[in-house]
Amino acid sequence: MKVLITGGAGFIGSHLADAFLARADEVTILDVASDLKVRHHLDDPRFRYVRDSIMNREIVEGLVSWCDIVYHLAAVVGVEHYVGDPYQVLNVNVNGTQAVLNVAFKAGKKVIFSSSSEVYGRSLSVPFKEEGDRVLGSTRIDRWCYSTSKAVGEHFCFAFHKLGLPVVVLRYFNVYGPRLDRIDVGRVISIFLGQLMRGTPVTVIGDGRQTRCFTYAEDAVRATVAAGVADEAVGKIINIGTDTEVSIHSLAELMIRLWGSRSRIAFVPQESVYGHSYEDIPRRVPDLQLMKRILRVTPQVPLEEGLRRTIEWFRGQGVED
Ligand code: UDP
Repeated sequence: MKVLITGGAGFIGSHLADAFLARADEVTILDVASDLKVRHHLDDPRFRYVRDSIMNREIVEGLVSWCDIVYHLAAVVGVEHYVGDPYQVLNVNVNGTQAVLNVAFKAGKKVIFSSSSEVYGRSLSVPFKEEGDRVLGSTRIDRWCYSTSKAVGEHFCFAFHKLGLPVVVLRYFNVYGPRLDRIDVGRVISIFLGQLMRGTPVTVIGDGRQTRCFTYAEDAVRATVAAGVADEAVGKIINIGTDTEVSIHSLAELMIRLWGSRSRIAFVPQESVYGHSYEDIPRRVPDLQLMKRILRVTPQVPLEEGLRRTIEWFRGQGVED
């Protein structure tokens, strides 16, 4: 199979490229980012890295006509962007997704769209079922621009699906693992890793009772590959995650223990980190029935094991220098 992965040089995209190449498929990635996360494939004749934007229509048309299936993962992700550059988030995630879907529709190629558990917002109806309501705050709170951008992307998917395009929407729940963001930036695990490495306090935002279900990259990728091949997935939204709920306070304690660090925990008010354009989500837990039934995937890697592997990988990168 010929697989096009937009955003393939990113965290999940690079793991997805690994998985398809391991299946002997051909992979082309389209990404504006550097090849850092896919360098190990640059000599593989079944792998191609095109450094360009999903906004470049000519390039997208050429690559979509080459492939059998489009995995659309390219997006501006990360809380620092939601509150720092909402224009970029909206432009790339909404207009870029529309552009990719449009080209795929004309070429008649199936699209797997990577959406996010952010779409549920701060809904209190845990576990989140795919057909459940979204609960978001005011548009004056920049944090919600990402959630909104992904929801618009999903609407575009279903609009094109109505016109005949085969689409699958995947909502990821806090995926982590080797090659996560650079330490100190991005998501909570990479921020904690930076702090552990330096032995500085681990910053738990708020009271730390907010929860997440962290999903090891390998589990997320198995489900993502399955979504491209399972006919029953077409036209569906499917949560991709684990249902092991952990508070951020417990995550901090666990990571301190696994690292063997003497860092202590510092509770910090969210305004001091993200300013006033941020609201936290109290609990985030997926309902996994569709993932298990349609994709036939059950998460295999428990949090402690996944964190061990992630820590080992980051240590191997020399992050302690
Ligand atoms: N968080 C934290 N300390 C940090 C960074 C994040 O306590 O230094 C918290 C954040 O407030 C949220 C959770 O960790 O409750 C997960 O944050 P992340 O940005 O990784 O992703 P989210 O699930 O919020 O999209």
